[in-house]
Amino acid sequence: MVGWPISTIFYYKRLSKTSQPTTTATIAEDDNRLGRWVVCSAWPYVNDRPHLGTFTHLLSADVYARYLRLKGEDVVMVSGSDEHGAPIEVEAIRRKITPRQLTNQYHRVFTRSIKQFNIQFDNYTRTESPVHKKFVQEFYRTLDKNGYVFKQNIILPYCENDKRFLPDRFVEGECPYCHYIPARGDQCDNCGRVLDPKDLINPYCVLDHSTPIMKESASWFFDLPKLSDQLKKYVEENPNLPENARRRSMLRRTRTFRRMLGNSA
Ligand SMILES: [Zn+2]
Ligand SMILES: [Zn+2]
Repeated sequence: MVGWPISTIFYYKRLSKTSQPTTTATIAEDDNRLGRWVVCSAWPYVNDRPHLGTFTHLLSADVYARYLRLKGEDVVMVSGSDEHGAPIEVEAIRRKITPRQLTNQYHRVFTRSIKQFNIQFDNYTRTESPVHKKFVQEFYRTLDKNGYVFKQNIILPYCENDKRFLPDRFVEGECPYCHYIPARGDQCDNCGRVLDPKDLINPYCVLDHSTPIMKESASWFFDLPKLSDQLKKYVEENPNLPENARRRSMLRRTRTFRRMLGNSA
């Protein structure tokens, strides 16, 4: 099991809450201290019952949100069940139910467990909620409209029996590095390496164990390199980030520059 990302915290400086003048030193100090916080944690996949690892990041977010609330900060803590992705589709096909039936079942289990762990979410939602869908669609359309999405054909395994392309978890085989079987199309659980489905030795479809063929498929990509300059500037000049995080980014740039110059020092 891959480790869950740690909780993410967004901080917004509080917009003036009251119409009180902020000319005195005391109020100015309070204004600096009090902020609006959004504490997030990774959205757990609801393809199975939760295990303790799932709760590690939810609990760490809860601890931090409680600390901020005790300090009198304005906090919203959010997360939700991730109902989209190959693991859910594979599990639903295996059980001969729809992905929605599967996620309905496990979303209930997750919300019950969150209550039992006494984790205080302001909003624990799900990716199938109309609000979430609308937001994601608008977000994607804005990116597309502004030229940050490009289309490219890539080679993917295709199962002729199931008449479908086989993304990551739909294909298994032998790991090209440590030769473990079964390695998944996205990762080898034995050596931990991230894999591409087409790198697997003797790949097979997880649904019917037949050998897939390789076929070209159109895919859409987010053009991250287009934003690299803005992202570097954001990281290096952001006073809210710790010094080591900013230095790390600068260090990488220096190393890349040295490599470009052919200097291995
Ligand atoms: Zn391996
Ligand atoms: Zn198949």
